[in-house]
Amino acid sequence: MEIKTGSTVISLIKGDITLEETEAIVNAANSRLAGGGGVDGAIHAAGGPQIMEECRMYNGCPAGKAVITTGGNLKARHVIHTVGPVYRDGSRSEATLLESAYRSSLDLAVKNGIKTIAFPSISTGAYGYPLEEAAGIAIKTVLDFVKSNKGALSLVRFVLFSDSALKAYSNALKKLAS
Ligand code: ADP
Repeated sequence: MEIKTGSTVISLIKGDITLEETEAIVNAANSRLAGGGGVDGAIHAAGGPQIMEECRMYNGCPAGKAVITTGGNLKARHVIHTVGPVYRDGSRSEATLLESAYRSSLDLAVKNGIKTIAFPSISTGAYGYPLEEAAGIAIKTVLDFVKSNKGALSLVRFVLFSDSALKAYSNALKKLAS
């Protein structure tokens, strides 16, 4: 599914984000930037050791913030590492932190002159964020950002790893973009 808002295309696909050809891909990292499983492990495995070398120059990254490194061997020139919240019961600022993770990543992309960016579904794997709620926050944050930063980005893509994630994000986009 794809929509255009102003000059920005918002696209939802099912796939593996390590294969994306956008200028930047976003990693759902942990706060130590130490690598791990899930999409984080896949990005470091595909991108090679240069990404971790640059991660080590940062003193970690708190939830809701983002840092940028090279894309190493990836097609994407940059990886933006952001840290989503670990979901507990919804009362620990999880929604605010998830929104902030998306917004920090988008801000950092624009500051670096990046026009095309791909996101995974942050926090909905090991970090346990309920998928439908996370999809609503992700889509709303991107739509709001694109409206208040007109012309800054030409493509924001979500690369979803499962049919259920693609469906949740598609439902959110249909609802919030209309
Ligand atoms: P978190 O710790 O933020 O929950 P995970 O990596 O555990 O991060 O999961 C985030 C999402 O990324 C999950 O929906 C998972 O299915 C998905 N995912 C895992 N590998 C990939 C990949 N190669 N490309 C895109 N999405 C992926």
